[in-house]
Amino acid sequence: NKIEDDYVMGEALGKGKFGSVFLCRSKVTGVDFACKTLPKGEETVHKEVEIMQHLSGHPGVVTLHSVYEDAESFHLVMELCPGGRLIDEMTKEGSYSEHKAANIFKDLMLVIQYCHDMGVVHRDIKPENILLTASGKIKLADFGLAMRIANGQSLSGLAGSPAYVAPEVLIGDYGQKADIWSAGVLLHALLVGVLPFQGNSLEALFEAIKSMKLDFHSEKWQSVSKPARDLLERILTRDFAARITAEEVLSHPWILFYTERTL
Ligand code: ADP
Ligand code: MG
Ligand code: MG
Repeated sequence: NKIEDDYVMGEALGKGKFGSVFLCRSKVTGVDFACKTLPKGEETVHKEVEIMQHLSGHPGVVTLHSVYEDAESFHLVMELCPGGRLIDEMTKEGSYSEHKAANIFKDLMLVIQYCHDMGVVHRDIKPENILLTASGKIKLADFGLAMRIANGQSLSGLAGSPAYVAPEVLIGDYGQKADIWSAGVLLHALLVGVLPFQGNSLEALFEAIKSMKLDFHSEKWQSVSKPARDLLERILTRDFAARITAEEVLSHPWILFYTERTL
């Protein structure tokens, strides 16, 4: 079947590097989905599909419903996230209460832990790739840069988004802990409304990441609790061997204090 046989295409939901994402509605069931169209020239599309299938079934991962292929493109029909992108909510909110930040961050850590347990590094954790359900629950999306790695294997290719990239990714020897760093960059933004590492050029930004000076004494940190700062420091640790794991984040006092325990 062609995608047009099964779905009615609707408005654009977003645009990425290679493809675009449109709302679509099943002609059979009337259910709405999101359709990501990727040009065939893009070699990584097979990997993106394979990894989404591998990870399907976790409530924090955007589910891949079906895939269509035509002469020019692949069409990935995915579960629709009607709440849009976390980045847009963050822009509206400025910064979050610690209660809300901890709950978002816990859900993000649960899905990152799941990816890591399944042998996948996402490599592009950022609020543009975190989507929201109608009830505001997070869903991790965009597995276009994700890689499957064996236990202990390390990666070397520079990948990700500059502001979120871990120092070891810049050096070119990294693994799953790179996702934890990127999540830490996001946590910083949730807590104080700005990104931790900035620069007027890519070189200056990468220099800031590598030197990793976090100033917790500045004005904006005065209203943030000590446990929150402690967790952030354990995540934005340059030495990735010493950096906290997803599992350890989930049992950190700040997370336990603000989130409901699930058995
Ligand atoms: P790219 O790999 O090009 O960055 P993404 O998978 O991140 O593509 O999708 C690009 C944008 O499309 C997202 O930032 C989001 O705005 C929108 N989008 C993607 N998937 C969905 C979805 N399942 N539901 C709603 N919007 C989506
Ligand atoms: Mg993306
Ligand atoms: Mg992508």
